[in-house]
Order: sequence, then structure tokens, then C-alpha cells
Amino acid sequence: LTQLWSPLHFLGFVYREIRHSLADMERMFSLLDEGAEVDDAANAEVLDTRSASVRFDSVDFGYDSKRQILHGVSLTIPEGKTLAVVGSSGAGKSTLSRLLFRFYDVSHGRISINGRDIRALTQDSLRAHIGIVPQDTVLFNDTIGYNIAYGRPGASQAEVVEAAKSAHIHDFVVSLPDGYDTMVGERGLKLSGGEKQRVAIARTILKNPPILIFDEATSALDSRTEKSIQQELAAISANRTTLVIAHRLSTVVDADEIVVLEHGRVLEQGTHRALVEKGGRYAEMWALQQQGEVAEA
Ligand code: ADP
Ligand code: MG
Repeated sequence: LTQLWSPLHFLGFVYREIRHSLADMERMFSLLDEGAEVDDAANAEVLDTRSASVRFDSVDFGYDSKRQILHGVSLTIPEGKTLAVVGSSGAGKSTLSRLLFRFYDVSHGRISINGRDIRALTQDSLRAHIGIVPQDTVLFNDTIGYNIAYGRPGASQAEVVEAAKSAHIHDFVVSLPDGYDTMVGERGLKLSGGEKQRVAIARTILKNPPILIFDEATSALDSRTEKSIQQELAAISANRTTLVIAHRLSTVVDADEIVVLEHGRVLEQGTHRALVEKGGRYAEMWALQQQGEVAEA
């Protein structure tokens, strides 16, 4: 045992610890950097609309110049419609949502809302118009009420309760010992994946944005929870311009349009029915799923 803690081993241990925390620090800086990636144009305009149509026109993008991720991606989400993007992991689906939120700028082509290039808009106003329900919702070490109200700072208690009811989490919250004042997060009550997702949905309902992004929003859930959350998502996306990113095809069947993205390129596009009839990649994924296999391929 003393052998194990010889100075050399000890140094190795310390070294690994330091390296580990440096890696964490790097990650933190890259997170901070994310906002600094793009700047507002000098004459940036404020976006102010309740009805938005979204377009990607021949978008090329890479996180660095050595590796291009998106190749000439064009897609349109008409006002109030739902576009679903499916495709293998690594195809570039989440990258689309990061570009629409303008964490990064496109290398070529453009993204526009109601015909206006998003690079000509203030980032604050752009992001105020977009609500994201992500795969993993981050909870703050604060009360569950605070975590919901985060969707719209300054929301009244009544509005928070209303949003929680619409997201079907109110009954759960009031069953907790301290109700809306219950501490959650790392140092508080741990919520299940489904409960966290309902918090994210409640936040988004409070935010009430005209554009929604669901990024594999139900992929971590069992199929019964998924079904019930699916209904909630369908309800809040009605009449909103919605981008749905999904692994499971059951979640995209009703989309107005479906895009199959492979290796950063649009491979196929159409309604569920048209794509199944076409007998291409989507039809293949659908057949796999019908056999009870998860279409992860
Ligand atoms: P999907 O959501 O379809 O699984 P992503 O859009 O997340 O795929 O990623 C597409 C590609 O971009 C992947 O190869 C991934 O490794 C790469 N990528 C994603 N985020 C970054 C990043 N921040 N820096 C560098 N490469 C990234
Ligand atoms: Mg993704």
C-alpha cells in the first residue's frame, strides 16, 4: 500500500487531477465563448413578430475550417408549420438548431426569418423569439418555481402555475413537501428525465415564443411518458413555427414536412406518406422501426 503512494504515484495522481480540472475549465471557457462567437451588426434590427417563417438557403457550415459539417442545406418552415429533421447521429441535426439560435454564423448561404437574414437582427430579439426544449434540461440549484419562471423573468406566480398545469407538472409539484418552494437540482431534489422535460416545457410555455425547437426532446423517456409529453408538445406547437429533431420516427409522422439529413446533406424531403411511398432511406428507417427495432441507424 505504501508502494502505491510513493511520491511518483502521488504526483501522477495530482497531475491527473489538475489535468481533469483544466479540461473542465476549458469546457467552461468554450461555453462562455459560445455567446462571443457572433456579434450584433452595427445597425442590427430588432425582430418583433408573432408569426415567423424560417428559411435555410444553401447553408454551409463547419465548427472549424478543416471539417465541413453542413453542405448546401436548404429548408423552409412556413409560418405555424412543423418541419421534422431525422437522420443518423452526427448527421448535423442539432447543428441546425444551434445555427438558427445563432450560436454560430453560417459559412455560406443564409438563414432568414420572415425574409430577414438573422445576421441583421439583434441576438437578444432573435433568441427571445425562439424556445428550445432540449434533450437534457439543466436545472438550477433553486426552487422548482424559480426553475419554471426562468422561462419569463418577472412572470407572476399565477402564470407559473398556469404554465405548470399546461405542462402537466403542477400536480407533481404540489405533491412535494414544499410545493413550488422545493429546492431541486444537484443539491436538491433530483427530478426524473420526464419531470425535467416537463419543467422545460413549462418554461417554454411561459416564454410563449413564435418559433419552437424540440431537439430529440423525448428520446430519453420511456414510451408511455414519451406519448404523454408528445401530446403536450403537439399542443404547444400548434400554430407555431416548429423545428422537431428526432430519432424516433413515431414522433414525426404528423409533421407537415420531414427532412432526412445524412452527412450534413438533405437526402430526402416530403410528408411521411410521400417518403414511405418513395421507398428510399426514410422508408427503410420506417420499416426497421415497424419491426420493433429502434431506428438508430
Ligand atoms: P446530430 O445532432 O445529428 O447527432 P450534431 O449536429 O450534433 O449531430 O453534430 C454534427 C457533427 O458536428 C458531428 O460530427 C459532431 O461531432 C460535430 N460537432 C458538434 N458540435 C461540435 C463542436 N462544438 N465543435 C466541433 N464539432 C462539433
Ligand atoms: Mg443532436
